[in-house]
Amino acid sequence: MMNEMSIEKLASELLTVDRDRLWNSLMEQGRIGETEKGGLNRLALTDLDRQVRELFIRWCTEAGCEVSVDQIGNIFARRAGRDNSLPPVMTGSHIDTQPTGGKFDGCFGVMSGLEAIRRLNDLKIETIAPIEVVVWTNEEGSRFPPCMMGSGVFTGQFDLDSTLAVCDSEGVSVGQALQSIGFAGERPVTGHRASAYYEAHIEQGPVLEDEQKTIGVVIGALGQKWFDLRITGVEAHAGPTPMNLRHDAGLAAAHIMLFVNQLALDHAPHGRGTVGCLELFPGSRNVIPGQVDLSIDLRHLEAEVLETMVQALKTEISRIEQQFGVSTELKPTADFAPLAFAPECVAAVRGASESLGYSHLDIVSGAGHDAIFLAEIAPAGMIFVPCEGGISHNEMERADADDLAAGASVLLNALLASAGRGA
Ligand SMILES: [Zn+2]
Repeated sequence: MMNEMSIEKLASELLTVDRDRLWNSLMEQGRIGETEKGGLNRLALTDLDRQVRELFIRWCTEAGCEVSVDQIGNIFARRAGRDNSLPPVMTGSHIDTQPTGGKFDGCFGVMSGLEAIRRLNDLKIETIAPIEVVVWTNEEGSRFPPCMMGSGVFTGQFDLDSTLAVCDSEGVSVGQALQSIGFAGERPVTGHRASAYYEAHIEQGPVLEDEQKTIGVVIGALGQKWFDLRITGVEAHAGPTPMNLRHDAGLAAAHIMLFVNQLALDHAPHGRGTVGCLELFPGSRNVIPGQVDLSIDLRHLEAEVLETMVQALKTEISRIEQQFGVSTELKPTADFAPLAFAPECVAAVRGASESLGYSHLDIVSGAGHDAIFLAEIAPAGMIFVPCEGGISHNEMERADADDLAAGASVLLNALLASAGRGA
């Protein structure tokens, strides 16, 4: 639906959301499952999840939307357009949280979608394509792995039946949990089309705050390659074994850690390199480590560069085998391709930010989001707003009401650009 004309129209007629209504909705939903420290503990498909789902549905119904629930419990609130044969322009996120989560991660995306619809209602604006606000089931993956479950099934990444059979630590399946909270819907989960998908989200990183920008225009998501590395040397007494006769697996691991860090720095700004797990055996202060297990997580925005990083890592590992007289075993454990969001959606987000006069920055998503799966079936884009200290998945998660309103206003204008304006 997006074309030159609608972008021009967008520039000439700027819409902003109701800041206080958005904030109040965020705070009201944030009372369901609120923790003592002011965060949220609202695991997927629990009774608290049911309560916030019902609140969302009540608000959407009051805003004149038609609500449906699919077989994996995703909720769709549809505001009709002038031509309802067109695939909807979708927006949304999630309202489940980590056990010590915040009030903004996910909830901001859902509430800003709802606020966009309320604002279109206020202004009596008709869109050509319908707009749907979606709550994706179990984005966090905390109670039921994996994360991004609802959007994964919706986009055909995960199979419905095996996903319904996934159990939590108490042996309750996703299917049973959906039944017990009354959200085992009937709408077929797959086979849907969308004209576009937008997701507003807190950044969950420190870049926007550091650069003092209000809006992150998300251009894509980093590709990820994860490995387990085992380094085997020889355990020996720390005293009698001279330095030149050691096979110190720990020392080799230290070199790998420095190398992984340098590798990411050499591929700035989109390179990432992390050793998050490290175990030394036997783990005794006077024994030279004979074995080390560590994890390696490499990320980059471009597939070719990420592959170059992996090759460089492999070369370095062989060199380290020689230098330290150790042997190694490198095992890939996960591989996610990088993603570039649709140029027309990125342009709509950037254009809206510029027209509304918000400072903005092109940015990449280092974390997983439902939008990454939605990009498989529709042109997709994301809008980031700063969060205090870049902190999320934490009860201390905070965001500024003005920044949130700015993000929701960008969302509103991008939705309108993609859906086309009727009357
Ligand atoms: Zn999230």
